[in-house]
Amino acid sequence: MWNASLCDFCGDCLARCRYVDYDREQASREIRLLSEGREAGILNHCITCIACNSYCPTGADPADLIFTMQEKTGNSPIVGGYASIREEIARGLEGGGDPIQVIPGDPEKPALSFDGFEFDQFPPGTMESCLFEGMTMVRGPELMSLTGMVHLGGASFTPRYAEGVIKKLAELKKEIVYIHNEGYILAHKRAPELGIDVPFRYRHLFEHLIDYLRDHEDRITPLNKKVAYHANCAVRWLPEQEPWLDEIFELVGVERPPRRYERENALCCSVPIITVNKEMAVDMQEKNVRDAVECGAEALVTICPVCDAVLRRPTARFGLPKIFITDLCRMALGETAWPGRA
Ligand code: SF4
Ligand code: SF4
Repeated sequence: MWNASLCDFCGDCLARCRYVDYDREQASREIRLLSEGREAGILNHCITCIACNSYCPTGADPADLIFTMQEKTGNSPIVGGYASIREEIARGLEGGGDPIQVIPGDPEKPALSFDGFEFDQFPPGTMESCLFEGMTMVRGPELMSLTGMVHLGGASFTPRYAEGVIKKLAELKKEIVYIHNEGYILAHKRAPELGIDVPFRYRHLFEHLIDYLRDHEDRITPLNKKVAYHANCAVRWLPEQEPWLDEIFELVGVERPPRRYERENALCCSVPIITVNKEMAVDMQEKNVRDAVECGAEALVTICPVCDAVLRRPTARFGLPKIFITDLCRMALGETAWPGRA
């Protein structure tokens, strides 16, 4: 959440934004305007990649300020372009969509939350995997993780609906493992910022995978592959996720060759602009995948079903296998084969 008291108007955030060509003076001026609740040119150019939060040295969360002002002023093609989708999602969050689906598991084991995604938006075999054996599976529009709504011009969704989503999950009376990191970010970052109590234990998918892999090291056959990683933009709110990913790669015997578009310099998958600026979106996808190929990677790993779907076409075009993080673990555990192998 934007914290004006942490901002010294240094301008680092927008001076480093790759989608505008601002010097520090202009960057500083625009952040000042936004912090005063006034319009600024960045609103129209921002593609909601959240990278400016990585550039901000004080943790002021400039991305939140920008996204809030984009929605408030409507001065962004993203806000206009996704109005009908926001309406549909709001209807679901208010109980007007599909009911919550619960597939009961072992009463002693946690629940795996798929947030608002459909179960089949994750790779086939995910729900049956040993990684999640005995866990209750839950999903539904009322469990939507909210934080990603900034990519659809809906920054206000988190403050409006966070309490309701947390309450619905609390009704399960279980520990929650979030298969999508935006659900974890809602519980771990956004809810406390909003003063909302989270009355259940929760874990990030990566924490769960690390524990499972450590407990079953005798079943792991190291993959001995070089793999590039595409992080979703939400990782900018959760920098601790990077070392967790590195540990998973080490456990499954995967090397992460350095590449240009990763960590602080990572590229957005392009979904926020896919309908409002298709040319730019395709260019970003291709740069991202070409960079993964050029670093010597034998596959690209994704962690978000939306990024995974968006990157399907460009990875296929470059002949680079694309693997969801849970499948990478399943390959090392012998549950499924490396792409192209019987
Ligand atoms: S979110 Fe991304 S595009 Fe928007 S201002 Fe920040 S760095 Fe630039
Ligand atoms: S939000 Fe951070 S990077 Fe941007 S001007 Fe303020 S302190 Fe500097």
